[in-house]
This record gives sequence, structure tokens and C-alpha cells, in this order.
Amino acid sequence: MNKLSMRIVSGWISINIGHYDYFYDSKNKRFVVMENNYDTNSISKLNEERLKKIIPPVNYEILPNFAEPANLSCITITGKCNMNCPYCFVYPVPKMKNMSVSTAISAVKALKKQSDKHLTIYLWGGEPSLNPKALIAACNEGQKHERLSLILTSNGVFSDELFDKIIQVDNLIFQISFDGIKEQNNQKLLTNKNSLPIVLNRMKSINRLNKKIILRSTVTKNNISNILNGLGLIKDLTKTYMIEHVHTYVGRSQNQKTQEPNINDYGQVIMKLLYETEQFGINLLTPTLEGLRLSSPPKWGFINILPDKYLSVTNSIIDSSNPMFKLLSIGKLKRKKIVISLKKVKKMHDNYIRNVNIYCDNCIAKPICRGGIQRDLFCSQANITMFDDTRCKYYKSVLAQWILSIIPSINSCLKQEGLREGMILLKNNNKDKNFFPLLVHKNGLKVICDKSFICPH
Ligand code: SF4
Repeated sequence: MNKLSMRIVSGWISINIGHYDYFYDSKNKRFVVMENNYDTNSISKLNEERLKKIIPPVNYEILPNFAEPANLSCITITGKCNMNCPYCFVYPVPKMKNMSVSTAISAVKALKKQSDKHLTIYLWGGEPSLNPKALIAACNEGQKHERLSLILTSNGVFSDELFDKIIQVDNLIFQISFDGIKEQNNQKLLTNKNSLPIVLNRMKSINRLNKKIILRSTVTKNNISNILNGLGLIKDLTKTYMIEHVHTYVGRSQNQKTQEPNINDYGQVIMKLLYETEQFGINLLTPTLEGLRLSSPPKWGFINILPDKYLSVTNSIIDSSNPMFKLLSIGKLKRKKIVISLKKVKKMHDNYIRNVNIYCDNCIAKPICRGGIQRDLFCSQANITMFDDTRCKYYKSVLAQWILSIIPSINSCLKQEGLREGMILLKNNNKDKNFFPLLVHKNGLKVICDKSFICPH
């Protein structure tokens, strides 16, 4: 990755490889290829000028709107957990109370009320099943509404009694944390019991009942090598696999620097997983791949309703004792209504833009990421001293490896047309898939040469 010469030209991500310059427009999903006979070590200035002349700049203006009605939200059912995973991105909040049943019901109603689109609500914590009454209440309320999906984010360790109740909820999807198939990769419960057999049994019973499961793994130094080996099992359990890297600045994991996988190893494991999962028809989710598919970070509107009714824009659990709380909370749930403070939203917006301008200026991922990978930090830190760019390095490593993986197909497409330069469009090959395939193979991406396009000299 280090050998790749990459930069941004008029909003295009430009890459030099040998005698060719490649320019990628992430918005319209197309590459322009130009010969570079003058300088083989960097993107040629001449080609930059040619690109600017023939193609309009790609506008990727950063316009966060943190007050936007959320179509993706979450309700923090409890701060408690029955595990103690060292890499957890949740701030431990020992004194946090469970959400009450009435707040859980109001939270679902209020979120649904402020959104006229399809709404997805994550029910999470901590381990939400440790507050079964509020969890069941939120599920029951959630299934009364149309165009609403509920996702239970859980470690999969919960009682049969609770399972029998929530499995009846029509619009509920299970998102289960699953860190590998080997004993050492699965976490002990606080009771010291091994969670792995319990989680596997739970997933099998969910599957038997044809309910949807999303699996979610955190890649650490210890499990990176056997995450791939686990795919044989995963393919029988899910069609959606979510990969997280160790979070470097939030929760317990900020003390887990030694758990971080090597940057290139992480990029490679994502690319290998992408090949394997696409073959199995599994949708692999991870920040860079989502960015590549959507050409942007996820929508800004995201609200986390906390047990004490405060609204936060972070997916971590925080409470008023946290130093970042003031800057990450934007309002309160009041009388079954989401009430947002526009003053706070403005402050958050200004912080975000200010920090993106400081930290993202020369970043090659900026047209896609737009600061999204550091969202919490950029929203909250008026003066960042704890900026940790490991997440950015993971993002850029996957991006660079994706570009490298697709270039041979682009070259052979041009060759087939008898061209040395041209424009290549990336098309979704499979209309049935609701995600944008990222690799060129049987069910993946089509690379098409735009024959009308000529690169003038
Ligand atoms: S990867 Fe990091 S530096 Fe680059 S745009 Fe995203 S947040 Fe900014």
C-alpha cells in the first residue's frame, strides 16, 4: 500500500501504477485510465490537467445535518453486560440504570413518529437481554408499526424464556456478536462459563425458525487468522456478516492497543473475506466497503436514546458523567417526543467541519469517508488531543487494496476493446442483490468500457 501513489484530483481519487494513472469517481462509480509516459512514480501533472479539462469535478461537499430525522436509530436498553470483552467499544457505565418499560415504549413511538421513511431501530446496550421487560416492551411496540425493523444486538446468551417471547416478533432481526470458532476467541461470561456453545446453540435455534441473523465479529490480533476459517460455519448461519476492527478511542478498547491487528493484515483479511463471502452470497459489511457502496458515510441522522431519556449521536453508551457527554448529546425524549436542541446541533456541526478541515485535508479517502470514520471524535472534540488515526489507516488500507484488486479487470476490459486509455463504468451485475458487489466475478461487478469516451491529449 505504501508504494501506491494516491491523491485527490478534482474530487477523483487518483492512483499511479507504472505507466498508467487511474482516476476513480466514487460518486458515479467509474474509472478514467490515462497513459503516463512521463513520470512512472507519481500521478502525472499532465494527466491531472487533462482530467480537469474533460470531466467535471466530483462534488463531495461535506454537509452533515445532525438534526435530520433518523432512519437508523438505537435504544440503549441497559448499560449492563454479562461479559467483559476487552475490546468492547462501550464505555463501562457501572451506575447506569436500566431503561424503564414506559421509556422503552415511548422511545419506539417517538422514533417512529419523527421518521416517515423505513426506520431501523437497534435495541442494544450492554446486553439488552439483561433488561428483559423493557426489551420485550420495545419489541411489542415495534411490531405494531409498519415500515419498521428492529435489530437486537446481543451476545446471544439469553434465557429460553426470553427467547420464546422475542422469537414471535415478526420484524425482529438478531445481530449476534461472534468472534471466531475457536475457544480462545470466544469470550467468557462473567460467571466464567464459556459462551461459545451457548451462542452456537442459540444461533441454530434462531435459524431453525427462519429468522434473520446478522453476525458481527471484532477483528483482533488473536482472531484475525481464524476469522477466515470460520466462514464454513458462518455461511450456514447468516447472509450478513459485519466486521469491526478494534476501536481505538472509545470504551474499554482504548486500553487495548496491543490487540490492534496490523494495518495491512486487516486490509488483506477484509479483501479475502470479500471474495469468500460474495461467493457464498453473504453481504460483508465494514466501514470502507459501506463507504464504497454508498459513496459516502452513513446518513447523519442517528439517534441513540439512553435509559435516562437523553439523546446522543454516538453509538457508544455514555452518560452525563462522561467528559464527552455534553458535546455528543443533542436533546431529550420528552412526552413521547424527540426534542432536539438546535444550539447543540449547530455546535456539533461546527466542531465536525472544523475537525474534518484539520485532520482530513490530505486524506485520499475523503471523497468517500468525509470524516465519517471519526464521526464521534469530530463531533465532540473542539480541541482534539487524543486523535488516533488507526481507524483511518484501516479505512485507507482497505480502499487501496480494493482499487488494486479491481485494476486488472479494468486493464483487461480496455484491452478487449483495443484501447490504451478510456473510461470504465462499474455496474452491479446482479439486480437481485440489495448491495453493491465490489468484486469482479460471476455474481459481482461488471466493468464496462464507455466507448464514447475519448481522453484528449
Ligand atoms: S479516513 Fe480519517 S482522515 Fe480520511 S477522511 Fe476519513 S476520518 Fe478523515
